[in-house]
Amino acid sequence: MNLHAELAKERRARLAAERLLKLRQEELHAANAQLGKHANALTEEIVERREEAHDLREQTDQALQDLKLAKSEIHIAKRRLWDSIETIEDGFAVFDEQHELIVANTAYLSVFDDMPLVGPGVSYPQLVSIMLEEGIVDIGQDRPQQWRARMLERWHQPKPEPLVIRLWNGRFVKLLDRRSADGDTVSLALDITDTIRNQKKLERAKDRAQAANRAKSAFLARMSHELRTPMNGVVGMADLLKDTELNEEQALFVETIRSSGTALLELINDVLDFSKLEAAKFVLVAQEFSLRELAADLIRLFEPAVQTKPVDLHLSCDANLPDRYIADHGRIRQILTNLIGNAVKFTESGSVTTTITAGAPDENGRLPIEFRIVDTGIGIPADRVDYIFGEFNQVDDQKNRKYEGTGLGLAISRQLAELMGGTVAVESREGEGSIFTLTVPLQPAQASNAPAAVSEVHVSGGLTQNALANEAQTVAEDVVRKMRILAAEDNKTNRLVFEKLIKSLNVELQFAENGRQALDAWREFRPDLVFMDISMPEMDGKEATLRIRREEAEYHLPRTPVCALTAHALQGDEDEILSSGLDHYLTKPLKKDLIFDQVRKAMPQGVEPVFEGDHAAPAVQNSLLATTEPTVILPEQRHQAAE
Ligand code: ADP
Repeated sequence: MNLHAELAKERRARLAAERLLKLRQEELHAANAQLGKHANALTEEIVERREEAHDLREQTDQALQDLKLAKSEIHIAKRRLWDSIETIEDGFAVFDEQHELIVANTAYLSVFDDMPLVGPGVSYPQLVSIMLEEGIVDIGQDRPQQWRARMLERWHQPKPEPLVIRLWNGRFVKLLDRRSADGDTVSLALDITDTIRNQKKLERAKDRAQAANRAKSAFLARMSHELRTPMNGVVGMADLLKDTELNEEQALFVETIRSSGTALLELINDVLDFSKLEAAKFVLVAQEFSLRELAADLIRLFEPAVQTKPVDLHLSCDANLPDRYIADHGRIRQILTNLIGNAVKFTESGSVTTTITAGAPDENGRLPIEFRIVDTGIGIPADRVDYIFGEFNQVDDQKNRKYEGTGLGLAISRQLAELMGGTVAVESREGEGSIFTLTVPLQPAQASNAPAAVSEVHVSGGLTQNALANEAQTVAEDVVRKMRILAAEDNKTNRLVFEKLIKSLNVELQFAENGRQALDAWREFRPDLVFMDISMPEMDGKEATLRIRREEAEYHLPRTPVCALTAHALQGDEDEILSSGLDHYLTKPLKKDLIFDQVRKAMPQGVEPVFEGDHAAPAVQNSLLATTEPTVILPEQRHQAAE
């Protein structure tokens, strides 16, 4: 080969080698660059991982710290809870489903006096047995086995009732047991000794207060009796003196004595009623009565009061109303007496009109009877309308001051009405007049619904009875005799007053000075009517009447009308009086016309005329009873009736 070719070949080879080298160099460079990148990425990853590991370590540390804190908080909470449970003086314990003690505070365990057996694991039945065996509990009259059985029976109830047990040292523990959702039982043993002691103290204090109240009532009753007996003498004598010959000045003195005495007696009665209502000792006595008789009595009562001033007294009663009801008519009369009395007192001229109507019966058949008293008097200022129902409250202005009164009447009336399920309401306009309304639900009597005509027969029943039940005797005697009246009264002055009061009557009067003498006199003297004082030495009026009734029944004798004369002002006594067989009662001081009413009612046939003139029954009463139309008594009618 030629050199040139050789050189060319060699040059070509060299160039090729150089190209290859360059290529390899480039490849190496690229590989190097790649490697560098990788190394960078790796470094970054390592840094990241390191950071992550650091974070994780921090988080773990935090979690560990939190856990430690939580543990310590739980510990504190547990300790506090337990400290609290330990601090309370009451027992606390938890039992598991097998009734074994899990935990109990010192108060719970202290009852068992550190007995080693009593601790976690002891069962409830074992605790009960220990209480019995160690005499921890005072089981009173119970037998131990019974007591144990009762305790366990209670324990096994799903919801045990609270139970109070008494410990040996006199302390009282109330057991409260509650089942929790997981079957545990949480038990509380509360020391209620102080509560029970306080309760007992309160009960004793209440008993003492009640006893004091009873003593107060009894004292008032006694005092009223003591006060009323001499007052009866004063008022009675003044009444008699009034009818004797007196000069004008003397008549004024006597009238002052009489009216002051009467006012004093009314005051005593009011105060007594009120104190009795206040002590919640007022007893209502339901008895059959006639509405029309009640109305007639009221009219008669207020007739004298309107004689001295130009005031007309009206009374009307719905004629369709049943006449007879069962209720405490004494109390109804008392309320009406106060309301009509006020109306008359506060009316200088015009009229006082009372209407009696009824609403629809209630589900028990009781009729709401409404007594509406309308007057044309001084009226009551609007701002005083509620005030006057308070105790001792009066419309206190110059106008009012001249009227007498205690300010107790309306307070008593409202309370009495409410006691009977009724109400007292008022509407008034100052200077024009007032309307007072008593509404009281009344039970019509069984054989009632009979209007006036029937009640008239009933009222004259006393006469009829005496006439038919005494007929044989009268015929056998066949001699006209005087009516016989027996009056039992231990007080000499009262006997004198009574004698004077009836001196105008043509009767044979005999006195007895105590119940025993009254009984003997009743046997011997055979009176047509007995007036019986209640409080008498040896044998009181109630006992004497009971014995009279017993003998009448035994020997089939006619019933002698017996009318109680009582100085007892305490309301509620009359139920006792009437339950002793007395037919009626009159309160001292005795009123002549009321005594005469009783005499008229009891007057038998075949006796000499008792009253001067004829035997006419009380005019006002009869005119009311005889009508079946709504009754309106006008003053002129009253005078006609009286004639
Ligand atoms: P008293 O009549 O004894 O003062 P009340 O309790 O019965 O006591 O009456 C209280 C007061 O109510 C009376 O003093 C009087 O001021 C007023 N009042 C009662 N009824 C009437 C009436 N019909 N008209 C005017 N005022 C009356």
